[in-house]
Amino acid sequence: MLDIQYIKSHATPLQEVADQKKINISIAELLNKAQLKNQYLQQIERLRQQRNQLTQTISGHMQNKSVLPTETVQNLKDQVKQINLQLQQLEQTSQSVQLEYNQLMELVPNYVSPDTPIGQSDADNVVIRTWGTPPEFVFPFKDHIELGEIHQMIDTSRGVKTAGSRNYYLTGTGALLHRAVQQLALDTLLAKGYTPMEVPTLVRGSALSNTAFFPLGMDQTFKIENEDKWLTGTSEVALVSYYQDEIIDLSQGAIRLAAVSQNFRSEVGSTGKDVRGLYRVHQFAKVEQVIFCEANVDTSEHIHQEITANAEELLQLLELPYQVVAVCTGDMSQKTYKQYDIETWMPSRQSYGETHSSSNIHDFQARRANIRYRDQEGQLQYCHTLNNTAVASPRILIPLLENHQREDGSIYIPVALRPYLNNKEQL
Ligand code: AMP
Repeated sequence: MLDIQYIKSHATPLQEVADQKKINISIAELLNKAQLKNQYLQQIERLRQQRNQLTQTISGHMQNKSVLPTETVQNLKDQVKQINLQLQQLEQTSQSVQLEYNQLMELVPNYVSPDTPIGQSDADNVVIRTWGTPPEFVFPFKDHIELGEIHQMIDTSRGVKTAGSRNYYLTGTGALLHRAVQQLALDTLLAKGYTPMEVPTLVRGSALSNTAFFPLGMDQTFKIENEDKWLTGTSEVALVSYYQDEIIDLSQGAIRLAAVSQNFRSEVGSTGKDVRGLYRVHQFAKVEQVIFCEANVDTSEHIHQEITANAEELLQLLELPYQVVAVCTGDMSQKTYKQYDIETWMPSRQSYGETHSSSNIHDFQARRANIRYRDQEGQLQYCHTLNNTAVASPRILIPLLENHQREDGSIYIPVALRPYLNNKEQL
């Protein structure tokens, strides 16, 4: 959510950003509605004042403070009746204008950072660094599904039998590996001072609106029938909402939270895309980083680099080649000010695939969720929020199994993961 005065003075660039982010909104229409809404409110206020004056004159007469001819009193009463009728109509119209205004306000995109590349889709994202080298196999390599079957770690056919398409079971070592990567990620964040959190994954619609996942992401979200309860696609929703309507204490620096959660996504719009294997599923686990910091462009930029580096550190611990891309306007969500994606090398795709998404939201979520702090002068300010994946599994199992496979079918376990897997060196 942006301030209406800000929108007014930045109407042209914001319309450009909305078009680039493919959000169907006319900023001019919003500003017209804002003007109309204010006109109605002023009109209503004027009529209420008039009515008050008239009723005061009538009640003065009733209490014998003034003597008015009967005809005049009747005329005053008629005027009050007339104003009440006018008010009734105006209040109704004003309410529907207010509703239309609110709906448009919910669609206004956040502004983007000056260094965000302008583009249409992920094809226009810009690689800013790479780490590691994709392996060159001298033998016919297997994909994660084949490896998962050989090692009895992944069972997609029983997943589909039980839960439908885009579902899976992780079995035996597969389940242990899934837990091991999450625990490594959590331990890495805890060592950096993050507070661990267990969070609700079934939340009210307001939590999704306040964090800017609604209205635009509604079709991606599973709903409990006949209830205002929704399954979240990321713990960012619950983590940011934790402080909804609160004044937080940032006097000791930023607040860093880490949650492990199950995440649910309908993946509407992805029909036929990534149907094989574990890349795009309806339910997955994620260790997430969420930060609240002061509303200072340099501070949140610095933290954005930090949460991106945390994810890179984890990929380096997993000994996986990756690249960091600056996400372009057309591939960004409504709320995002600046975004990096980290893409890890996936041999079966012969390309890097997205495994992490690191976003600086500035005060866009904090305004919607009403999260403020007192600055050094004691003034209340909306804070900045940021988030990044630490690890998302089972997607991360794709590069982990595929990059570390050997010719004899065994799989090398990176040193950092061994303490979580009985110190095994290979599977
Ligand atoms: P996002 O919250 O959309 O930025 O996603 C964060 C990370 O979660 C992605 O980079 C993926 O690693 C993972 N992820 C997102 N959607 C899915 C999905 N449908 N299936 C498996 N993993 C996913």
